[in-house]
Amino acid sequence: MLKKIELPYSLNALEPYYSKETLDIHYNKLYEGYINNTNDTLEKLEIARATNDFQNIKCLEKNLSFFGSGVILHELFFLNMILYMPTNPSKSLMDQIEKDFGGFINFKNQFSQSSLNVEASGWNLLVWVPNFKKLEILQCEKHQNLTLWGCIPLLVLDMWEHSYFLQYKSNRQDYINAFWNIVNWDEVNKRWDEICPIYKV
Ligand code: MN
Repeated sequence: MLKKIELPYSLNALEPYYSKETLDIHYNKLYEGYINNTNDTLEKLEIARATNDFQNIKCLEKNLSFFGSGVILHELFFLNMILYMPTNPSKSLMDQIEKDFGGFINFKNQFSQSSLNVEASGWNLLVWVPNFKKLEILQCEKHQNLTLWGCIPLLVLDMWEHSYFLQYKSNRQDYINAFWNIVNWDEVNKRWDEICPIYKV
């Protein structure tokens, strides 16, 4: 059974950039829904395997992709934010950002523009592409569909309406600008240093 991750900060810790009300709904209602539905799907898959009854396999595997990706992406998103404090990309990550984007400002511009251009509901992600040995930015408009096999998400921004509408209405630019104030680079660095090295060689 999957369990909700604990937030490493209180519900109002990201104020004023990300309101307590939005985080409360996001974490306690929507994310919890993804957890419950993933657990429900995993249980049904267990039963299907135990009884050798795969009548609903298409639906179950689709649900696993949708709800499971919802769990994974939300956990990355919640953990890659922190109350305002100066965190920065590590030397190694910064070197790679400079190599692949031509500088941190260029990376930030592309990430912001890419977020702004996510069509309807979706995500924007900084990822490491092992096969290309390169950092890239990807829009993920239907999170149940992998956009690039094997890519490793490093920094995630939730561009679904529920993540900003309550506080920012349709002003996605303000939401994106605010996000940069609460990025937890220490967490991004951890993923970069701990998960990526096995692929970076
Ligand atoms: Mn969300």
